[in-house]
Amino acid sequence: MLIGATAQIVDLNGVAKVSHIKDKLIEMAHLKETIRSSSLALASAYEGREMKSDVQMIESIQANVCKQNVTRIPYEIARLVQDLTGGLLVTMSPELELEHSDVGPLIHKFLFGNDGADIDRIKVLRLTKNITLGLNAVGYLTEPMHGAGSPQAQRIQIARGMDLNTKRIYAHKIARVTET
Ligand SMILES: Cc1cc2nc3c(=O)[nH]c(=O)nc-3n(C[C@H](O)[C@H](O)[C@H](O)COP(=O)(O)OP(=O)(O)OC[C@H]3O[C@@H](n4cnc5c(N)ncnc54)[C@H](O)[C@@H]3O)c2cc1C
Repeated sequence: MLIGATAQIVDLNGVAKVSHIKDKLIEMAHLKETIRSSSLALASAYEGREMKSDVQMIESIQANVCKQNVTRIPYEIARLVQDLTGGLLVTMSPELELEHSDVGPLIHKFLFGNDGADIDRIKVLRLTKNITLGLNAVGYLTEPMHGAGSPQAQRIQIARGMDLNTKRIYAHKIARVTET
Protein backbone atom coordinates (compact mmCIF):
# COMPACT_ATOMS: atom_id res chain seq x y z
CA MET A 1 0.00 0.00 0.00
CA LEU A 2 2.86 2.37 0.87
CA ILE A 3 4.63 1.54 -2.40
CA GLY A 4 1.36 2.15 -4.25
CA ALA A 5 0.84 5.49 -2.50
CA THR A 6 4.36 6.57 -3.45
CA ALA A 7 3.81 5.49 -7.07
CA GLN A 8 0.64 7.60 -7.09
CA ILE A 9 2.47 10.69 -5.81
CA VAL A 10 5.37 10.46 -8.27
CA ASP A 11 2.77 10.06 -11.01
CA LEU A 12 0.94 13.21 -9.88
CA ASN A 13 4.30 14.99 -9.64
CA GLY A 14 4.99 14.08 -13.28
CA VAL A 15 8.23 12.19 -12.57
CA ALA A 16 7.02 8.57 -12.76
CA LYS A 17 9.08 7.82 -15.87
CA VAL A 18 12.39 9.20 -14.53
CA SER A 19 14.91 6.36 -14.26
CA HIS A 20 16.04 6.84 -10.64
CA ILE A 21 12.40 7.15 -9.54
CA LYS A 22 11.50 3.86 -11.26
CA ASP A 23 14.60 2.25 -9.76
CA LYS A 24 13.68 3.38 -6.23
CA LEU A 25 10.18 1.91 -6.61
CA ILE A 26 11.82 -1.34 -7.74
CA GLU A 27 14.11 -1.17 -4.69
CA MET A 28 11.08 -0.75 -2.43
CA ALA A 29 9.43 -3.83 -3.96
CA HIS A 30 12.70 -5.75 -3.63
CA LEU A 31 13.00 -4.81 0.06
CA LYS A 32 9.40 -5.75 0.76
CA GLU A 33 9.82 -9.17 -0.86
CA THR A 34 13.08 -9.69 1.05
CA ILE A 35 11.11 -9.70 4.28
CA ARG A 36 8.13 -11.65 3.00
CA SER A 37 9.67 -14.45 1.07
CA SER A 38 13.32 -14.59 0.01
CA SER A 39 14.18 -17.53 2.26
CA LEU A 40 13.05 -15.83 5.46
CA ALA A 41 9.49 -15.43 6.73
CA LEU A 42 8.03 -18.15 4.54
CA ALA A 43 11.11 -20.37 4.76
CA SER A 44 11.25 -20.21 8.56
CA ALA A 45 7.68 -21.52 8.62
CA TYR A 46 8.33 -24.09 5.87
CA GLU A 47 11.38 -25.46 7.67
CA GLY A 48 9.66 -25.43 11.04
CA ARG A 49 8.92 -28.59 13.02
CA GLU A 50 6.22 -29.97 15.21
CA MET A 51 7.12 -30.12 18.89
CA LYS A 52 5.97 -32.82 21.33
CA SER A 53 3.30 -30.42 22.54
CA ASP A 54 1.91 -30.25 18.94
CA VAL A 55 3.03 -26.63 18.74
CA GLN A 56 4.52 -25.79 15.34
CA MET A 57 7.95 -24.18 15.91
CA ILE A 58 9.54 -22.05 13.20
CA GLU A 59 13.19 -22.52 12.20
CA SER A 60 14.94 -20.22 14.66
CA ILE A 61 17.88 -18.80 12.68
CA GLN A 62 15.79 -17.90 9.65
CA ALA A 63 13.09 -16.38 11.83
CA ASN A 64 15.67 -14.26 13.68
CA VAL A 65 17.37 -13.16 10.45
CA CYS A 66 13.91 -12.24 9.16
CA LYS A 67 13.15 -10.28 12.34
CA GLN A 68 16.52 -8.52 12.14
CA ASN A 69 15.67 -7.47 8.56
CA VAL A 70 12.33 -6.25 9.84
CA THR A 71 14.19 -3.87 12.19
CA ARG A 72 15.95 -2.33 9.16
CA ILE A 73 13.96 -2.65 5.96
CA PRO A 74 10.84 -0.61 6.84
CA TYR A 75 13.16 2.28 7.79
CA GLU A 76 14.87 2.05 4.39
CA ILE A 77 11.49 1.88 2.63
CA ALA A 78 10.32 4.92 4.66
CA ARG A 79 13.51 6.73 3.60
CA LEU A 80 12.78 5.99 -0.07
CA VAL A 81 9.15 7.11 0.37
CA GLN A 82 10.30 10.43 1.80
CA ASP A 83 12.93 10.79 -0.93
CA LEU A 84 10.35 10.27 -3.68
CA THR A 85 7.44 12.24 -2.21
CA GLY A 86 9.60 15.30 -1.53
CA GLY A 87 9.37 17.87 1.23
CA LEU A 88 5.73 18.44 0.35
CA LEU A 89 5.11 15.43 2.58
CA VAL A 90 5.48 17.77 5.56
CA THR A 91 5.03 21.24 4.08
CA MET A 92 1.74 20.66 2.23
CA SER A 93 -1.14 22.97 2.94
CA PRO A 94 -4.07 21.80 4.97
CA GLU A 95 -7.12 21.07 2.81
CA LEU A 96 -8.93 24.06 4.35
CA GLU A 97 -6.39 26.50 2.88
CA LEU A 98 -7.38 25.39 -0.61
CA GLU A 99 -10.79 26.90 0.03
CA HIS A 100 -9.41 30.20 1.36
CA SER A 101 -10.47 33.09 -0.87
CA ASP A 102 -7.00 34.71 -1.07
CA VAL A 103 -4.56 31.86 -0.49
CA GLY A 104 -6.53 29.04 -2.16
CA PRO A 105 -6.10 30.15 -5.81
CA LEU A 106 -2.38 30.78 -5.23
CA ILE A 107 -1.86 27.25 -3.83
CA HIS A 108 -3.78 25.77 -6.76
CA LYS A 109 -1.69 27.75 -9.23
CA PHE A 110 1.81 27.41 -7.80
CA LEU A 111 1.74 24.17 -5.85
CA PHE A 112 -0.54 21.82 -7.72
CA GLY A 113 -0.76 23.08 -11.30
CA ASN A 114 -3.72 22.18 -13.46
CA ASP A 115 -4.03 18.43 -13.06
CA GLY A 116 -7.15 18.79 -10.88
CA ALA A 117 -5.78 16.25 -8.39
CA ASP A 118 -5.14 18.64 -5.50
CA ILE A 119 -7.30 16.88 -2.94
CA ASP A 120 -6.20 13.40 -4.03
CA ARG A 121 -2.57 14.46 -3.75
CA ILE A 122 -3.12 15.82 -0.24
CA LYS A 123 -4.92 12.63 0.78
CA VAL A 124 -2.18 10.30 -0.50
CA LEU A 125 0.60 12.49 0.91
CA ARG A 126 -1.14 12.48 4.26
CA LEU A 127 -1.36 8.69 4.14
CA THR A 128 2.39 8.34 3.53
CA LYS A 129 3.16 10.95 6.21
CA ASN A 130 0.99 9.11 8.69
CA ILE A 131 2.77 5.80 8.08
CA THR A 132 6.35 7.09 8.01
CA LEU A 133 6.12 9.95 10.52
CA GLY A 134 2.75 9.95 12.20
CA LEU A 135 0.64 7.69 14.40
CA ASN A 136 0.97 4.64 12.15
CA ALA A 137 4.78 4.84 12.29
CA VAL A 138 4.28 3.13 15.65
CA GLY A 139 3.17 0.00 13.81
CA TYR A 140 5.32 0.46 10.71
CA LEU A 141 8.65 1.41 12.32
CA THR A 142 8.85 1.18 16.12
CA GLU A 143 6.99 -2.09 16.52
CA PRO A 144 9.19 -3.83 13.90
CA MET A 145 12.21 -2.39 15.74
CA HIS A 146 11.34 -3.43 19.30
CA GLY A 147 8.29 -5.72 19.16
CA ALA A 148 9.32 -9.34 19.84
CA GLY A 149 12.70 -8.03 21.01
CA SER A 150 15.13 -5.24 20.12
CA PRO A 151 17.71 -5.93 17.34
CA GLN A 152 20.38 -7.24 19.71
CA ALA A 153 18.03 -10.02 20.84
CA GLN A 154 18.03 -11.49 17.33
CA ARG A 155 21.82 -11.26 17.11
CA ILE A 156 22.13 -13.22 20.36
CA GLN A 157 19.86 -15.95 18.91
CA ILE A 158 21.76 -15.95 15.59
CA ALA A 159 25.05 -16.29 17.52
CA ARG A 160 23.61 -19.23 19.49
CA GLY A 161 22.57 -21.10 16.35
CA MET A 162 25.23 -20.19 13.81
CA ASP A 163 27.30 -23.34 14.46
CA LEU A 164 30.77 -22.03 13.64
CA ASN A 165 32.34 -25.47 14.17
CA THR A 166 30.48 -27.05 11.25
CA LYS A 167 31.34 -24.06 9.08
CA ARG A 168 35.01 -24.43 10.08
CA ILE A 169 34.92 -28.11 9.10
CA TYR A 170 33.57 -27.21 5.65
CA ALA A 171 36.46 -24.74 5.20
CA HIS A 172 39.01 -27.27 6.41
CA LYS A 173 37.72 -29.89 3.96
CA ILE A 174 37.77 -27.57 0.96
CA ALA A 175 41.18 -26.10 1.89
CA ARG A 176 42.51 -29.56 2.83
CA VAL A 177 43.57 -28.33 6.22
CA THR A 178 44.52 -31.13 8.63
CA GLU A 179 41.98 -31.34 11.45
CA THR A 180 43.43 -30.59 14.87
C1 LIG B 1 4.83 -0.86 19.32
C2 LIG B 1 5.27 -1.96 20.24
C3 LIG B 1 4.51 -3.12 20.34
C4 LIG B 1 4.91 -4.15 21.19
N1 LIG B 1 4.13 -5.27 21.26
C5 LIG B 1 4.47 -6.24 22.11
C6 LIG B 1 3.66 -7.43 22.25
O1 LIG B 1 2.66 -7.59 21.54
N2 LIG B 1 4.00 -8.37 23.16
C7 LIG B 1 5.11 -8.22 23.95
O2 LIG B 1 5.38 -9.09 24.77
N3 LIG B 1 5.89 -7.12 23.85
C8 LIG B 1 5.59 -6.14 22.97
N4 LIG B 1 6.41 -5.03 22.87
C9 LIG B 1 7.53 -4.88 23.81
C10 LIG B 1 8.84 -5.33 23.23
O3 LIG B 1 9.02 -6.70 23.41
C11 LIG B 1 9.94 -4.47 23.93
O4 LIG B 1 9.76 -3.13 23.50
C12 LIG B 1 11.31 -4.98 23.56
O5 LIG B 1 11.59 -6.22 24.16
C13 LIG B 1 12.40 -3.98 23.97
O6 LIG B 1 12.25 -3.64 25.34
P1 LIG B 1 12.19 -2.12 25.76
O7 LIG B 1 11.16 -1.41 24.94
O8 LIG B 1 12.01 -2.10 27.25
O9 LIG B 1 13.57 -1.51 25.34
P2 LIG B 1 14.92 -1.62 26.15
O10 LIG B 1 15.06 -2.97 26.77
O11 LIG B 1 15.03 -0.41 27.03
O12 LIG B 1 15.96 -1.50 24.93
C14 LIG B 1 16.54 -0.28 24.49
C15 LIG B 1 17.99 -0.56 24.07
O13 LIG B 1 18.75 -1.02 25.19
C16 LIG B 1 19.39 -2.25 24.89
N5 LIG B 1 19.43 -3.05 26.14
C17 LIG B 1 18.43 -3.26 27.03
N6 LIG B 1 18.85 -4.03 28.04
C18 LIG B 1 20.16 -4.33 27.79
C19 LIG B 1 21.14 -5.09 28.47
N7 LIG B 1 20.88 -5.72 29.62
N8 LIG B 1 22.36 -5.17 27.91
C20 LIG B 1 22.65 -4.57 26.77
N9 LIG B 1 21.75 -3.82 26.07
C21 LIG B 1 20.53 -3.70 26.58
C22 LIG B 1 18.51 -2.89 23.82
O14 LIG B 1 19.25 -3.82 23.03
C23 LIG B 1 18.08 -1.68 23.01
O15 LIG B 1 19.10 -1.32 22.08
C24 LIG B 1 6.08 -4.01 21.99
C25 LIG B 1 6.84 -2.84 21.87
C26 LIG B 1 6.47 -1.83 21.00
C27 LIG B 1 7.35 -0.60 20.89
